[in-house]
Amino acid sequence: MKTIGDTDNFVALLGTKGGPAIRPGSTNPTSSLLVLEGRKIVVDCGLGVTRGLVDQGMALKDLELIFITHLHSDHYLELGGLLHTAWTAGLKTPVTVFAPKGADQYWQHFLCAMKADIELRMADEGRPDLAALVSFKTLDDGPVLNSRALTVSAMRNTHPPLIDTFSLRFSGRRHDVVFSGDTAYLPKLAEFARDANLLIHEAMLGEALDALFKRIGNTDDRLMKHWLRSHTMAGDAGKIATQADVKALALNHLIPSDDPDFTDEDWRRAVRPTWDGSLHIGSDGLRIGLE
Ligand SMILES: [Zn+2]
Ligand SMILES: [Zn+2]
Repeated sequence: MKTIGDTDNFVALLGTKGGPAIRPGSTNPTSSLLVLEGRKIVVDCGLGVTRGLVDQGMALKDLELIFITHLHSDHYLELGGLLHTAWTAGLKTPVTVFAPKGADQYWQHFLCAMKADIELRMADEGRPDLAALVSFKTLDDGPVLNSRALTVSAMRNTHPPLIDTFSLRFSGRRHDVVFSGDTAYLPKLAEFARDANLLIHEAMLGEALDALFKRIGNTDDRLMKHWLRSHTMAGDAGKIATQADVKALALNHLIPSDDPDFTDEDWRRAVRPTWDGSLHIGSDGLRIGLE
């Protein structure tokens, strides 16, 4: 089993596919664990986040900080499930969720949906009040958090039709990690990610999109248009990494993620013309050290 040491600094990609659907053999939607300056920070809560965290050796009662980049279900469908499961796993300290406006409504409705169970466990098992443990703060452009050697800032990115959708930069004393979030190619992200130790950028493999579109089967050409105007080709992610002069690039939120006709080699080939530095192709459970 994986463990987390007191002085570890790393990112674990827990779910690495783009989009909400899972299929036999597919990876999980988006979630990550960032361990920095002794803090355990969850970035996005797609389906599978809870299992992904414990598989990294994280005790769920240590949950403290959660960031949701935007309100597409592949980034927050399991937020309620994670908080509730952490509560049943011994959580008794506050959790702060930084998320776009509207996320607190999701949480209030989740508490309503699970009211019978939550009240039962409080009365029958003596659990603390779950609602009182969790607070929401609205993400917006600019500084987000400055707390014990950890600073976090957000930059609104381009992921239409959503407006409240963000890239995030986490800075410790010696390490900086930037998450692109879901975004179309966004040249100003290079400035936001300047000199980071690791840029985790979403990516599409252009040559594989037609086959994916045909496999999905219950949409029309609006889905293809959404991909093309709201997401970034792998080669453009490489451009951002080069312009930002980051130390390493990880491709994440892979579209597609489950087509056996395309392998890591195809992703590497797509990025090489624009980025010749350290490159990680996201896979569920992959740990990327920051040393
Ligand atoms: Zn997404
Ligand atoms: Zn999205």
